[in-house]
Amino acid sequence: MSERVIPLVDQRSRSRAINLPTQVVPATGLLGDALGRPLRDLRISVTDRCNFRCSYCMPKEVFDKDYPYLPHSALLSFEEITRVARQFVAHGVQKIRLTGGEPLLRKHIEVLIGQLADLRTVEGQPLDITLTTNGSLLERKAQALKDAGLQRVTVSLDGLDDTVFRAMNDVDFPVQDVLRGIEAAQAAGLGPIKVNMVVKRGTNDHEILPMARHFKGTGVVLRFIEYMDVGATNGWRMDEVLPSAEVVAHIQRELPLVQLDAAAPGETAERWGYADGSGEIGVISSVTQAFCRDCNRARLSTEGKLYLCLFASEGHDLKPLVRGNTTDEQLASAIAGIWQGRSDRYSELRASLPPDAASDGKRRVEMSYIGG
Ligand code: SAM
Ligand code: SF4
Ligand code: SF4
Repeated sequence: MSERVIPLVDQRSRSRAINLPTQVVPATGLLGDALGRPLRDLRISVTDRCNFRCSYCMPKEVFDKDYPYLPHSALLSFEEITRVARQFVAHGVQKIRLTGGEPLLRKHIEVLIGQLADLRTVEGQPLDITLTTNGSLLERKAQALKDAGLQRVTVSLDGLDDTVFRAMNDVDFPVQDVLRGIEAAQAAGLGPIKVNMVVKRGTNDHEILPMARHFKGTGVVLRFIEYMDVGATNGWRMDEVLPSAEVVAHIQRELPLVQLDAAAPGETAERWGYADGSGEIGVISSVTQAFCRDCNRARLSTEGKLYLCLFASEGHDLKPLVRGNTTDEQLASAIAGIWQGRSDRYSELRASLPPDAASDGKRRVEMSYIGG
């Protein structure tokens, strides 16, 4: 086995200061980036902390007791998040996903959900508000989340075998507790529930079929995610990536599948339905198949930095504007200017360049900091 090299320098806060725009960019909901991509999806990280230590995301060796997590004062408050989100919505955002770290660790998260649920799209429609969680606190919180206005949840679960799952979360967390969380979310009406499984060749690929069998016919949409080279601490290696095409072929041998149309432009998952009509699965091929052309996602970090790509090495610091004397109009114009300059397409470039070249050789931001 080759040795893992884990860089220990924290460059999490690398960011660009934002100059206040001299001209107002009217919020019409029609904003486009440099490649003509609209702004539709905002992912908000509400905490950089997590109670799991999945090795592909927050390896224990790096995220240990001495890791410098953000102090509470650095976090955007719920009011600040909602104010920023409102400007994004005015520029066309229709969907907000809360993430982290583990979003259910943020105290009173349902208060934030309630505030976001009051926002309306440019067309006057309620937003699609979802949350991605490791499920550990879901059984306790599902009903309160639903009552606050959350529509759906995505639960991450990397296997059904308790030993495999405990090893992957690396904190010995039992799989039954997550399964109970999924049931509670279903009972609370937080569906259709999606379950995300990150597949690592040689670690949990033997769990693909048991997972498919388990969720087939339950209404839960199981999605297989290629293990990605996000961040700089997970020791990513291409030979641990199991291409989605192989996942589909593997399932097909036992459970026949037919390909379905994409749910919406910019959707990351390729959809497959069971031939017997008992539900669907998805595959997210962020490594083997680039999907940047329709990427309409912006990411807001826990401390208010705007990232234009999951693989970005630099964010745009909105916090000084949010905490300064900036008007909503100025804040919205600043966001517009940043989005208009966006030309990120890391996954597409990765196909033709070595990993470091695609991100300019700079260190990429961690997934636990900007969320998935
Ligand atoms: N803690 C929550 C959870 O695990 O669902 C939300 C944050 S987590 C960063 C969001 C998603 O990113 C999860 O589904 C997780 O499996 C996925 N993820 C994290 N690191 C990844 C990697 N290296 N490759 C692919 N997916 C990854
Ligand atoms: Fe935590 Fe989610 Fe990252 Fe796992 S994937 S360490 S649960 S933030
Ligand atoms: Fe979007 Fe960046 Fe992913 Fe491409 S690599 S799909 S631009 S987040």
